[in-house]
Amino acid sequence: MKFDYDLFVIGGGSGGVRAARITASETDACVALAEEDRYGGTCVIRGCVPKKLMVFASEVSHAIPEARCYGWDINEARFDWDIFHGKLDAELDRLENVYRKLLEGSGVTTFDQRARVIGPHTIELSDGQQKTAQNILIAVGGSPVLPHIDGIQHALTSNDMFHFKSLPKSILIVGGGYIACEFAGIMNGLGVKTTQYFRADQILRGFDDEARGIIADEMGKRGIDLQAGMNVTKIEKIPEGVKVTNSKGEELEVAAIMFATGRSPNTKGLIADGVGVEIGTKGQIVVDAYSQTSVPSIYALGDVTDRVNLTPVAIFEAMCFIATVFRGVPTPVDHALIPTAVFTQPEIGTVGLSEELAAARESIEVYSAKFRVMRHSFAGKEDTSLLKLIVSTKTRKILGAHLIAPQAGEMIQLLGIAIKMGATKEDLDCTMAVHPTISEELVTMRTPTRKT
Ligand code: NDP
Repeated sequence: MKFDYDLFVIGGGSGGVRAARITASETDACVALAEEDRYGGTCVIRGCVPKKLMVFASEVSHAIPEARCYGWDINEARFDWDIFHGKLDAELDRLENVYRKLLEGSGVTTFDQRARVIGPHTIELSDGQQKTAQNILIAVGGSPVLPHIDGIQHALTSNDMFHFKSLPKSILIVGGGYIACEFAGIMNGLGVKTTQYFRADQILRGFDDEARGIIADEMGKRGIDLQAGMNVTKIEKIPEGVKVTNSKGEELEVAAIMFATGRSPNTKGLIADGVGVEIGTKGQIVVDAYSQTSVPSIYALGDVTDRVNLTPVAIFEAMCFIATVFRGVPTPVDHALIPTAVFTQPEIGTVGLSEELAAARESIEVYSAKFRVMRHSFAGKEDTSLLKLIVSTKTRKILGAHLIAPQAGEMIQLLGIAIKMGATKEDLDCTMAVHPTISEELVTMRTPTRKT
């Protein structure tokens, strides 16, 4: 063989592992993968998975008062971080092991060290070994970015949120995106006094305006102190935590401060000068629809390409890469209509266009139902749920759906299939309702709330 491997993957996260193991097990290619940290990447080790387990833990605090309303006699309930943390660590170890076994079982050669690209077909490992490959796939993900503020070294990022020795009594979360809003809900639910600063006038930029307004109201009702148009200008260490100066010049003392102000691709020092891979203004690897870089033998996928930074997207991009490069079926990645959920409390599931974007493009009808779900209503809770469909007046196709409800992430996954298939409002109308459920409203909304 001209090269050591047919494929060398850099990065053992969701996208890299998927590409390596499917290529090795389902084609006759010889594959290697290098990972400098833990296998599983951001999603498994310091993202989606531990985050969701923390969401489950924190939601119990809302379920206990509800249980009392249903007649349960629960006196004292106390959350023990040590117990949870121990189990969380053990679960992550288990999952990392699963990833390692999957690679091993599919015949991928692994290197537990950092790798960098030094030529169109050449990789250099941190111990100095050089390996060659017909194709190189870069799937090294991204990391949190912190703004340049006096005292920023005292701030935590999402990476640190799974490793508290003990839970802080209070926390300031900075940012209004997915990560900030999810952790605000988690911390608040675990009994930590939670304040969230975001510089815009509303959280979750890019989401449907009505939906993000409801999420913000609901987060506030649950006890999070949400402060719009607010930022941090200075952080000082004090014995009890940190003293923060905000953009209004006020001072706030909290036990911890966490910044979730975006992430950037891990390309620093990754590719030697002269290789010729084009890097974009945000440090991302520029790729075409087939995940191919400006160097034909080098591909990249997942967060390092900064297209749509979600685990299932990286996995999808990996499958398209395999089809294109190893099965001879050129397969561009279709990034349209990606269903997604934000695990705020309550959670939001969304797919397609917001009302604002859709209305700017064409004439639309909006169907929406805002209500209290049966389970909460019985328990006297004031939570607002929303089921909202954006429909094209001309084609009748559903252009967007925005759901705020318990299990909205589960609902949007299924609704996302119909929408991806091109479902019209009338397709939903002729589907029988499942009663009594929350999602039955999706097939029973008959009159538009508004037309634009
Ligand atoms: P986002 O890009 O979603 O949000 C970043 C936030 O930080 C925005 O509110 C932004 O404000 C704010 N911000 C940026 N720079 C500054 C600054 N200098 N000072 C103050 N505020 C600032 O990033 P996240 O880190 O929350 O998430 C990264 C990505 O991870 C997401 O895009 C998502 O794709 C993925 N993710 C997905 C999850 C899911 O699917 N459930 C969960 C977690 C992450 P502004 O809006 O004003 O620019």
